[in-house]
Amino acid sequence: MTRYRDFHRRSIDNPEAFWRDEARRIHWETPFETVLDRSNPPFARWFVGGRTNLCHNAVDRHLAERAQQNALVYVSTETGIERRYTYAELHAEVNRMAAVMRSLGVKRGAVVLIYLPMIPEALFAMLACARLGAIHSVVFGGFAAPNLAARIDDAKPVLIVTADAGARGGKVIDYTPLVDEALARASHKTPRVLLIDRQLAPERLNASYLVDYEPLREQFFDAHVPCEWLESNEPSYVLYTSGTTGKPKGVQRDVGGYAVALAASMEYIFEGKAGDTMFTASDVGWVVGHSYIVYAPLLAGLTTVMYEGTPIRPDGGIWWRLVEQHRINLMFTAPTALRVLKKQDPALLKKADLSSLRTLFLAGEPLDEPTASWIAGALGKPVIDNYWQTETGWPMLAIPRGVEALPTKLGSPGVPSAGFALTLRNELTGDPCPPGEKGVLTLNYPLPPGCMSTVWGDDQRFVSTYWSSIPNHQVYSTFDWGIQDEDGYVTILGRTDDVINVAGHRLGTREIEEALSSHPAVAEVAVVGVTDSLKGQAAMAFVVLRDAQAYAEGNTRTKLQDDLMTTVDRQLGAIARPSRVVIVSMLPKTRSGKLLRRAIAALAEGREPGDLPTIEDASALQQVREGLQA
Ligand code: ATP
Ligand code: MG
Repeated sequence: MTRYRDFHRRSIDNPEAFWRDEARRIHWETPFETVLDRSNPPFARWFVGGRTNLCHNAVDRHLAERAQQNALVYVSTETGIERRYTYAELHAEVNRMAAVMRSLGVKRGAVVLIYLPMIPEALFAMLACARLGAIHSVVFGGFAAPNLAARIDDAKPVLIVTADAGARGGKVIDYTPLVDEALARASHKTPRVLLIDRQLAPERLNASYLVDYEPLREQFFDAHVPCEWLESNEPSYVLYTSGTTGKPKGVQRDVGGYAVALAASMEYIFEGKAGDTMFTASDVGWVVGHSYIVYAPLLAGLTTVMYEGTPIRPDGGIWWRLVEQHRINLMFTAPTALRVLKKQDPALLKKADLSSLRTLFLAGEPLDEPTASWIAGALGKPVIDNYWQTETGWPMLAIPRGVEALPTKLGSPGVPSAGFALTLRNELTGDPCPPGEKGVLTLNYPLPPGCMSTVWGDDQRFVSTYWSSIPNHQVYSTFDWGIQDEDGYVTILGRTDDVINVAGHRLGTREIEEALSSHPAVAEVAVVGVTDSLKGQAAMAFVVLRDAQAYAEGNTRTKLQDDLMTTVDRQLGAIARPSRVVIVSMLPKTRSGKLLRRAIAALAEGREPGDLPTIEDASALQQVREGLQA
């Protein structure tokens, strides 16, 4: 591990020297004067005085060498549309979009809210904002009107970009009525809404604020809009966290630090080189989409694949066929998608020629061991779990194969990335935990480039939310709980909210979930803490079975439930044993695939789940209710 150790130590001991070198990866119109301004902790300003532009670095800079290389491959299994854009074509489209936005009053520093499905225009709009020096705020195109309204009021856009409709699993979702309702609910008045008409919506709304993109695109077809050179610390975008644990926070990102960090991550973590093709199966509405569908692959001169559709339509082989057809080298998705694919015919994976694929990356939620082993075995390629947050912008924990091909360890996303001074701390004393002891994952000041600069419009909330929860130390809290081994590998044990207190014992729900998912009958599991008059809290488990039919009869069912309890007893001790194991056919999840534990816990305590950020399938809540009554 010496190569990695030296590399990481250098990034922590002398961040100025380390990141000064890394900054050469991007173009600076004006060189920076100071690598790191630490004068106002916990705020950190990177590459102070340097002027650059994300769009220039992602698009224009490549024209000299790779104008004819594909920049974007777009595939929609919802509409059957497939398109390719070379870097030259991408450049032209982004200029058109920027000219249109400029004609609608978008200027440097203004906010543009992007509420779009997975269509190429989403990527053009983000890059056009970057080009103009405007701040984009992408809102996942599946959020309901109240969620959208809350983001409109917080971000205060001068323009909203939307489409007539999105589609998912063959179902068309009209966007214009949602936007209309959100505008009516919001107190901030957004003057204009730019509409990309895909001609999908059966009935699109007609409102005076709607402006059609297509005629304007024609009008500005040959436009050239110069890049605004921004000071490195000006905001590039605002992105709200998923809202899994409560009110979403507007994460504000800078320009220069983000570009440098992403470019570095492409070499050290993703091993992506110019000319490679990367398929990140996520959504531009999430941070993974911002960083690894849009900015990082383009900054590094790759071809990015953008996909609209589900992993199982027309069948569970679709993603693997995309790998074959487009000679995809790097793939990135969330464990949820794999759990869905695991239930499909495994032969579909073997049918495609996957020889181009080098690595599969997974992030967003815990990667359970059975899924990790299944996919690693089935693919025969490295599967790299990586751990991060909307706040950090890029992986905090991963296997930095571009530095040293360290082995993976099942259950762990790996070791700290460059610049992340990660320490597990005792949440009562704030003291660092020795290896093998559970603690809260924290980061020492300063956060490396690419991480959030502040909470949008609320510096105080940045300090009070993230930097004030650990006693005696001003450190950044991830609000995740983990354990680090002697080699520095960290295992995530769940969110600090998910720690339950059973008769004075502190247990991570993730540990109990891991124990349960080791049982061969279990496909998916969620464990939540519920109030218990005797023990304070008790763990309750909700289990989705691999083969529900086989356990349908009451008898086997009870036996299985006992069996599952014994599994926990054996692995963690009787104290961790769930008070109940409830069999359900589906678990409620956010649209980004995260378990809605908060909602499950509410139902288990006989309360209503209240406001949910997004929900993949609302009938899952009913499943939980019924399971509880059974
Ligand atoms: P909010 O902060 O609004 O509640 P959120 O935390 O779900 O929403 P994200 O920033 O999208 O929003 O998610 C980051 C969280 O996802 C991490 O803090 C962690 O709990 C979880 N996570 C991400 N990647 C992994 C991983 N590889 N292993 C385990 N957990 C992960
Ligand atoms: Mg979070």
